[in-house]
Amino acid sequence: PTLLAIESSCDDTSAAVVRDGRVLSNVTAGQAVHVEYGGVVPEFASRAHQRNIVPTVAVALQRAGVTAQDIQAVAFTRGPGLIGSLMVGVSFAKAFALARDLPLIEVDHMQAHVLAHFAEPPYPDFPFLCLTVSGGHTQLIVVHDALDQEIIGYTIDDAAGEAFDKSGKLLGLPYPAGPEIDRLAAAGTPVLQFAQPDPGELNFSFSGLKTSILYTLQKKAKEDPGYVRDHLPDICAAVQEAIVSTLIGKLVTAAEQTGLKQVALAGGVSANSALRARLEAEGQQRGWTTFVPRLEYCTDNAAMIGVTANFKYVKALFAGQDVAPAARF
Ligand code: ATP
Ligand code: FE
Repeated sequence: PTLLAIESSCDDTSAAVVRDGRVLSNVTAGQAVHVEYGGVVPEFASRAHQRNIVPTVAVALQRAGVTAQDIQAVAFTRGPGLIGSLMVGVSFAKAFALARDLPLIEVDHMQAHVLAHFAEPPYPDFPFLCLTVSGGHTQLIVVHDALDQEIIGYTIDDAAGEAFDKSGKLLGLPYPAGPEIDRLAAAGTPVLQFAQPDPGELNFSFSGLKTSILYTLQKKAKEDPGYVRDHLPDICAAVQEAIVSTLIGKLVTAAEQTGLKQVALAGGVSANSALRARLEAEGQQRGWTTFVPRLEYCTDNAAMIGVTANFKYVKALFAGQDVAPAARF
């Protein structure tokens, strides 16, 4: 089938056309408005989605070389995400489907982040292990099958992306700070050590990191007021090391416990160069086959929604016009 997919869960408006599981187009409009506020402002996000959704879909159809008449079903992110943002995508999808009498397919955004691995080859085989690290989630998942995903570990407080962004905020870096920390860390050495609690099992906790950074830097600033300014690359390297080593440590434990040898990363934080390098290194040592999607498919995108919807279409898992967005599942 030829599917139109819509993603609007946070601050990116994205539309894609997916035919028989193959991505024909994937168009994303970002929102610059949030940068000056140091984070996503929900009210601005939904307004920007309203402005962007029609032109984004038009470009997605055009780039795929199809028209509205070629679309056979409409897929959309039902949640989790910002309710006002989700509302725009869900309403658009419903209206498009109603106008053309098409079936609707609702998609779980987190399931889609995992299935982004099927946007282009090489595809992992089922079952595989996936570490999803995004702005709002940190999950270890056994992917038994496309639509059978078992969460075996998760964060009890902040997500990995949030840990990067909040740490960056403490250091005066612009939002989102993750990419900036990655860039600065490349020129630094992790001489400092930031303490992090271990909540046990396969779970994560990142909220203590901010406090540890704050106290460590306050102490340093007493001896040398210019410490942060003069040691930014080293501090970033230490922040990155703290987050990445925690993620990799739990991933290794999960791989040992499940016996899975196919190991995948998903979500925006999988763009992190240290995380990618550590995954490769562990993988070589442990005989894993590793999978990291191209950046376009790691951050929020509609292609992953369309690919997930294709798995649902073949099982005739459709939604009704009464479907409503859900901020949380
Ligand atoms: P969710 O899917 O949980 O609702 P999201 O979709 O908003 O969250 P993503 O777009 O997947 O999140 O990821 C955004 C996060 O990835 C931000 O926190 C950002 O700082 C982080 N990030 C992006 N690039 C890097 C990088 N190179 N190093 C570290 N973090 C990064
Ligand atoms: Fe996301």
